[in-house]
Amino acid sequence: MTAINDHTYRQTKIIATLGPSTSSRKTIEGLIDAGVDLVRLNFSHGDKNSHIERAKLVRQIAEEKHYHVGIVGDLQGPKIRITRFKDSKVILKNGSTFTIDESHPENEGNEEIIGTTYKNLSKEVNSDDLLLLDDGRIELKVEKIVNSQIITKVIHGGLLYSSKGLNRQGGGLSASAISDKDLSDIEVAAKIGVDYLAVSFAREAKDINRARELLRDAGNNGGIIAKIERSEALENIDEIIDTSDAIMIARGDLGVEIGDAQLPAVQKNLIKKARKKDKVVITATQMMESMITNSIPTRAEVFDVANAVIDGTDAVMLSSETAMGDHPVEAIEAMSRICVGSEGQSPISSKGINYSIENIKVDRAIAMACMLTADNLNAVAIAALTESGSTALWMSRINHSVPIFALTTHTGTLRKVTLYRGVYPARIKTIETTHETVNKDAINVLTELGIAKENDLVIITKGDLAGIAGGTNAMKVVKVGYLAED
Ligand code: PGA
Ligand code: MN
Repeated sequence: MTAINDHTYRQTKIIATLGPSTSSRKTIEGLIDAGVDLVRLNFSHGDKNSHIERAKLVRQIAEEKHYHVGIVGDLQGPKIRITRFKDSKVILKNGSTFTIDESHPENEGNEEIIGTTYKNLSKEVNSDDLLLLDDGRIELKVEKIVNSQIITKVIHGGLLYSSKGLNRQGGGLSASAISDKDLSDIEVAAKIGVDYLAVSFAREAKDINRARELLRDAGNNGGIIAKIERSEALENIDEIIDTSDAIMIARGDLGVEIGDAQLPAVQKNLIKKARKKDKVVITATQMMESMITNSIPTRAEVFDVANAVIDGTDAVMLSSETAMGDHPVEAIEAMSRICVGSEGQSPISSKGINYSIENIKVDRAIAMACMLTADNLNAVAIAALTESGSTALWMSRINHSVPIFALTTHTGTLRKVTLYRGVYPARIKTIETTHETVNKDAINVLTELGIAKENDLVIITKGDLAGIAGGTNAMKVVKVGYLAED
């Protein structure tokens, strides 16, 4: 039986990035007890073995607690960086000249010159371009380009460490989307058995398709998350959403590329768009940034999380807060309570079902009918028997307050649905049996979880029990304790 706890009725899912602060058994146990739904392994940092070790601990602890936790492997992608300073850092003064030279030796940077990991940079930037280092903390204006040297004037200076990221305002730097490091990290991700692979700096559908192909070739059937963090991704947003399983609004890099003033409107539009296209959406980066050192969030952070929840995000993500912060468990707890407090405030209701979906298929139609019925009959839960989880996904695209239990025999599906808003994974023994037995089993799962009791209404959706994905064709309304013979 799936363990149930106080987090069950939180609809919004929480993703925690694992790192040095969250490597011990005790802390990972703390995260899971605090209600984390998925963990993210960030391949930009740490070595292969540390990711494998953390993933192993997550799987072990989740298993012990009969809890389902998804794992996201996040590829570094073609993030352009400066190379290293001789003394690990420099201070750049406003108005001074600073040169970025792709042929400068790796470890020989100083306050006048530094190398870069992107060997084509001088051919792609132009005079007057703004280059942003370290998520925009340092701003450089390109004055001229002399061979491999980009000569810039420091507009906003300050402390700059080795290996920080480099973006151009407005985007357009065209490093290819999947690097050699990514190729080997995909192998690691497959070995770990990730449930999702996140593709950083995706530009177009092709990048997503290629990542999916590589992941499948490596023997993993996980979903693909497109990280929206480049201007070009916004230009191709429809095809990117259509080809991926989920998008991540990667506000760190995206904000640098498009400017912070554009971010809130873009975030709201992306959430709407993804949901409308029956896809999942994650809101990420600096949601609880002050909790890296503080034990409570700022009011602004509370509102940031709340607004994403109210707008309909499926999941909210923690990065440095849990990877290298001082209060990883408290960050999950704070996020969890803010999500719960903000859910139900949504301006969209289940009454807003779109009845005119073109070329709608039977299973999708059943999912919609189920949400309408559940809402109007005040059902306590929906038990969606599912192979791939897609019925539960469609249901969850409609704003609702009735918990959707994705009942499945497949471990991969149990973990995949951890990302869907308002959907809870629960294992069912078998569906290779009669309708009567499956109905009983479904009700039993819900009563054992403490979700349904006698006289409650529950809705069961299922297919012909042949074990085929996408086969949902029936909806049954059941009063618990009065299950008639099928
Ligand atoms: P990152 O992506 O944490 O891998 O940089 C998220 C973002 O850019 O916001
Ligand atoms: Mn990023």
